[in-house]
Amino acid sequence: MVGVGGIFIALGSNLGDRAGHIRSALRELEEAGDVRVLRCSSLRETEPTGGPPGQPMYLNAVAELQTELSPADLLARLGEIEQRHGRERTVRNGPRTLDLDLLLYRDQVIDEPELTVPHPRMWQRRFVTEPLAEICDAQRLAAARALRPMVLPRSQPLPGGGPARSVGNRNSE
Ligand code: AMP
Repeated sequence: MVGVGGIFIALGSNLGDRAGHIRSALRELEEAGDVRVLRCSSLRETEPTGGPPGQPMYLNAVAELQTELSPADLLARLGEIEQRHGRERTVRNGPRTLDLDLLLYRDQVIDEPELTVPHPRMWQRRFVTEPLAEICDAQRLAAARALRPMVLPRSQPLPGGGPARSVGNRNSE
């Protein structure tokens, strides 16, 4: 049992066998049997954005997953796979063998120090929005675009008595 879909990740590579890194990451995601890759977009070659000048071109794709892993456990799995591919974080936005980002986790809004969902920069990145539109229908995309963290006033406690913090859904830009 691997749950339902509606979980989208971005895959990118601009070092070594770029298509090989992306294809093997998709296989590795399924290795433990608790994640299924439902569909994957085509691979697109894109210009690097940010980072040091002269970087090689990227290959990018977006995949939809089915899993019951929590968002945090899924992020940890993505990090493990990046490490297996020799990912080094020496230069910000520098070249990388494999970059895996969690874009959407169904209709969840997460605003934690280690994890922000929807991914905070996804809608500004054509290398994400174009492959996402290839595998996600327009109605679902519109619903995802409307997901925003709701910043509660400090005095307003969360239901259940927890401290007020940024979580939820605000339907405005
Ligand atoms: P990067 O080096 O660009 O792959 O960024 C990875 C860092 O971003 C890690 O420390 C993650 O905890 C953090 N992060 C926050 N939100 C996300 C997300 N939605 N997907 C991937 N990484 C995230």
